[in-house]
Amino acid sequence: MTNSSDNGAAPHRVEELRANLLRVRKHIKDVTPAGQAQPKLIVVTKFFPASDVRALHGLGVQDIGENKEQEARVKHAEVVDLTALRWHFIGQLQRNKAKSVARFAHSVHSVDRVSLAEALAKAVLTENEQREAGGQPRREPLQAYIQLDLREGAQADEPGRGGAKPEDMLTLADAIAGQEGLDLVGLMAVAPLGEDPNRAFERLHRYSAELQREHPGASFVSAGMSQDMQAAIENGATHLRIGSDILGSRPPVR
Ligand SMILES: *Cc1c(COP(=O)(O)O)cnc(C)c1O
Repeated sequence: MTNSSDNGAAPHRVEELRANLLRVRKHIKDVTPAGQAQPKLIVVTKFFPASDVRALHGLGVQDIGENKEQEARVKHAEVVDLTALRWHFIGQLQRNKAKSVARFAHSVHSVDRVSLAEALAKAVLTENEQREAGGQPRREPLQAYIQLDLREGAQADEPGRGGAKPEDMLTLADAIAGQEGLDLVGLMAVAPLGEDPNRAFERLHRYSAELQREHPGASFVSAGMSQDMQAAIENGATHLRIGSDILGSRPPVR
């Protein structure tokens, strides 16, 4: 299933994706404050088929986001010929999936505990040993974002969608920075339900400044989904993770 004719999207779907991409790119441009660099667009293709990834690549997209290991692994294999694509893993991740993710991912946005950072670093080393044994070049260090849980008060004590507590950020940052296979690049967060995303992303911006005082290279801020991209951009997001505004609001009926 790596032949482009096997998983090409229908012409009307390509046109739909083209129009959505144009609209989102224009919106990003329009709401980015003057003097601020435009954030990078990561197109989140979860629930959607590899044919859409191939079409997006044809439309100039280089950054693809996925939130489940199995779905990402299978989809990546279907378009493995598109070597220019960077795969961003953005979902909660179990340690036993680290080896798989180290094979195809350019970055993991959801590093939220030391044990996961260690598993990912080990997986990168193993992957490089295997590549060297097979006469292939080593992979680049895996870009690691610390996912922060931005919920406050009582909410923050309930089980959530992953993320380290802000008070644990610097300990986790040191643990990531000390790993050979990982490159600490910044922070990621999802705006909590029921809170104005502007307030939440303002906090994220402050945490980013705090992180950069200790780790000056960790300047990326991955924030902003379809519903809150403007709030994220206005609060300094460097990377947006946009799914439904480009791919559509629900999985296609197949
Ligand atoms: C699905 C998802 C997105 C994209 O969300 P949309 O609302 O479809 O734009 C961004 N980030 C994470 C972590 C996601 O799981």
